[in-house]
Amino acid sequence: MIDRTIRSSIERLKDARNAVILAHNYQPPEVQEIADIVGDSLELSRRAASTAAETIVFCGVRFMAETAAILSPDRAVLLPDEYAGCPMAEMITAEALRTLRREHPRAMVVCYVNSTAEVKAESDICCTSANAVQVVRSLADVAEIIFVPDRHLGDHVSRQVGRELILWPGYCPTHARIRKADIDRARARYGEVCVMVHPECQRDVRDAADEVLSTGQMCRYARQSSLRRFVVGTEPGLLHRLALENPRKHFYPANPQATCPNMKRTSLEKILWSLQDMAPRIAAPRQVGDRARKALDAMLAVTESCSPT
Ligand code: SF4
Repeated sequence: MIDRTIRSSIERLKDARNAVILAHNYQPPEVQEIADIVGDSLELSRRAASTAAETIVFCGVRFMAETAAILSPDRAVLLPDEYAGCPMAEMITAEALRTLRREHPRAMVVCYVNSTAEVKAESDICCTSANAVQVVRSLADVAEIIFVPDRHLGDHVSRQVGRELILWPGYCPTHARIRKADIDRARARYGEVCVMVHPECQRDVRDAADEVLSTGQMCRYARQSSLRRFVVGTEPGLLHRLALENPRKHFYPANPQATCPNMKRTSLEKILWSLQDMAPRIAAPRQVGDRARKALDAMLAVTESCSPT
């Protein structure tokens, strides 16, 4: 009953504010259900760049809202919980990246979008987990490539593309909780299944999987596959979308404990309050935003010129 009241208040305010609600695949189910668009970072950043709405409520973590603000500087971008950060994004600073660049003057920097605006501003091109391989392949003529901040995604890309990358030693603490033993246990328990894992997982987990895919790619793969049973090696929030889109198929989390506490900070109440108060509002400082935008635009240009993976 309370939820229904909150939902209708959100809908009313959304119209009044000319707002769109974007939710990442890892958000709690009730948040995904009230969102206009649910997707991965790439889908959401594209949508943020093209929306006509004056207000974007970004249900995710800070770097995602910041990316939306950089791509849409004339819109109000709200992050319902201002403390929803990303530990991996905090594992590198702009200063540390500048130092690394000085050590490798011929290198270009590829920066995973799971990073701060300041770090993006020091980078040449961004990537998401869905397009990282395409982005690095597009740099075939470049002498050296620095990849920040996720060493596991970087390792995955390096093996796919067949070239060495200079990797920053960052990682996602949530995906680090998924272990090879979880995959072995799931195979023993569920029998004939397809194991899909995210490239933020460690190498032995990726090697034990059938497919290594971003969350958007997992959704597409599950829809198109004739298989019925899937073990999902990523944040379990994705299972809500997978189950909704594939009611006849079965999805099991590789490790149900591998939840991201930051992604779970969003609630219906916080969405409502953010629309009422038009806060917390996220923006990047102008100069940083302009430079970060160049790296994001470079990524979107590569993605648009290649067919989706
Ligand atoms: S799942 Fe990992 S990378 Fe994504 S927001 Fe949480 S900590 Fe950051």
